[in-house]
Amino acid sequence: METATITDLQELCGKSLDSLPAPLLAGSSVKSFPDATFRFVLARGISFEFSESNVLRSVHCYSGVEKPFARYKGGGLPAGLTLGLKGWAVVGRYGDTSKKGGGKIPVWLEYPHLGFQLSFQGSSWEDQNNVIVSMCIFIPEGNVKDFRRGAAKECFGVRECSVCLKPIKEAKVFCPSCKLVFYCSEECRSQHAKSHGKLCVGGAV
Ligand SMILES: [Zn+2]
Ligand SMILES: [Zn+2]
Repeated sequence: METATITDLQELCGKSLDSLPAPLLAGSSVKSFPDATFRFVLARGISFEFSESNVLRSVHCYSGVEKPFARYKGGGLPAGLTLGLKGWAVVGRYGDTSKKGGGKIPVWLEYPHLGFQLSFQGSSWEDQNNVIVSMCIFIPEGNVKDFRRGAAKECFGVRECSVCLKPIKEAKVFCPSCKLVFYCSEECRSQHAKSHGKLCVGGAV
């Protein structure tokens, strides 16, 4: 069964197990933990994390570089994400974030306002070609989605500048093309413009 019919994996988050389309979980295996239950579909490279009350918390999509998951080939990834995006290109596209780890453990980056976390294979920050192993997709903080659709005049939920990581009170400076990346000032925007320019997904999503 194809997963390509799923329009947006973030829209599924927050829904109960019973209300999810049956083909989504076809062929899944279940693994329970004290505070969560995972449903894995290895052959489709996707897994689903449910809360104790069977509400979908997050969706995980795998790039296929690490077993036993196949590469996820369905649609519905948020913010123009692609599993083949590498290392520094991620920061070029989405900016920097204070929610990250690496060095002694494999690199991970989280973008709460965009609703996803990326886990990489290697642990080095210097590795420009570090490959994505998996992405965890969840409900974004704030209203970037509505803002991008033009349904909201002001954007809430963006906490920090994508360049200097300084806290942002009001998200007024952003990339006008993708409206995914927010800055504290025009200075930070122009600083990011060079690496962001060719990676911007404006128009594509
Ligand atoms: Zn800044
Ligand atoms: Zn952009």
